[in-house]
Amino acid sequence: MNRDTASLFDKIKLYIPEDRLFRDEPMHRHTTFRVGGRASLYVRVASSDELIQVINTAKSTSTDFFLIGNGSNLLVSDEGFDGIIIELGESMSEINVCGNKLICEAGALLGRISSVAAKNALEGLEFASGIPGTLGGGLAMNAGAYGGELATVVETVCVLDPTDMSIKTYEASKLNFGYRQSRIKSEGLIVILATLNLKAGDEETIRERMAEYSKRRRDKQPLEYASAGSTFKRPEGQYAGALIEAAGIKGLTVGGAEVSRKHAGFVINKGGATAKDIYELIGIVQKRVLNNSGILLEPEVIMLGFDRID
Ligand SMILES: Cc1cc2nc3c(=O)[nH]c(=O)nc-3n(C[C@H](O)[C@H](O)[C@H](O)COP(=O)(O)OP(=O)(O)OC[C@H]3O[C@@H](n4cnc5c(N)ncnc54)[C@H](O)[C@@H]3O)c2cc1C
Repeated sequence: MNRDTASLFDKIKLYIPEDRLFRDEPMHRHTTFRVGGRASLYVRVASSDELIQVINTAKSTSTDFFLIGNGSNLLVSDEGFDGIIIELGESMSEINVCGNKLICEAGALLGRISSVAAKNALEGLEFASGIPGTLGGGLAMNAGAYGGELATVVETVCVLDPTDMSIKTYEASKLNFGYRQSRIKSEGLIVILATLNLKAGDEETIRERMAEYSKRRRDKQPLEYASAGSTFKRPEGQYAGALIEAAGIKGLTVGGAEVSRKHAGFVINKGGATAKDIYELIGIVQKRVLNNSGILLEPEVIMLGFDRID
């Protein structure tokens, strides 16, 4: 650890307990790809006040910072991150039920929120039950599946704007949600809390729908391997997996990374992959699909420490 990191650690430990503050933290522990080098500092925040304090410390020391939820849509380079990774996850994950509404902290996992909804016979969130991310990460990406997306159930979102440190609550209509995109992502806003508006339904029917989606995932997706879900966005009117298959590269490998044989839309870590293996394979898939179909696949996965390759 260099002197700068040591003094940064000392500053942050004045307000973050040491069981939530880590030095030289390997990022493979925090990403579902299970790859990634070390972050100089890794902080789990448990309140919006802590989040603000950490960002203020980063700014006042000209230190880079990056926010993660559950790391399920993230490829971190083997060189890691020279700065502070701020995790807004389990330590900030309260869920409150208020009639048909769920008021959730951003670190709550979508699977847990869907379960709470089901238990309270509230429908509309079944599609999200198998998405292994937090609500904050999900809103940034406008996560979706099986015809649903978070944009359709979210009512208001409370965010911190790290550029001026203001906290604002937006109606969903002001957040420019689109396919795997939002103003949250494009403007780097940080979700703290959101209200989801669901419909009264029948608990058994809701659970049946969740079980059906879960079976479809198990049947079609390589859930037995580390991945970040669908690697590429769906090009308009097409499926990334079908384009990759048509290019004849299902099963293609670079080191420990593979274009899944079960679902070509997933690049998986077959075991022992480096982040470089995955990154290179993504680039090869893009080139081969472009040559074969004229379509440039855009990665859905967020890349940290790489040149973006879309
Ligand atoms: C097996 C598997 C299946 C998947 N299936 C789906 C699917 O069906 N549909 C789908 O859409 N996705 C799917 N994903 C991808 C992923 O789970 C989602 O994109 C998820 O919403 C990411 O949430 P996260 O908390 O893990 O975000 P992270 O990966 O931690 O971060 C992703 C991005 O969100 C930002 N972010 C994180 N938290 C916040 C916050 N509080 N405020 C603002 N920005 C934030 C990060 O800075 C980063 O840019 C799948 C992934 C896996 C591994």
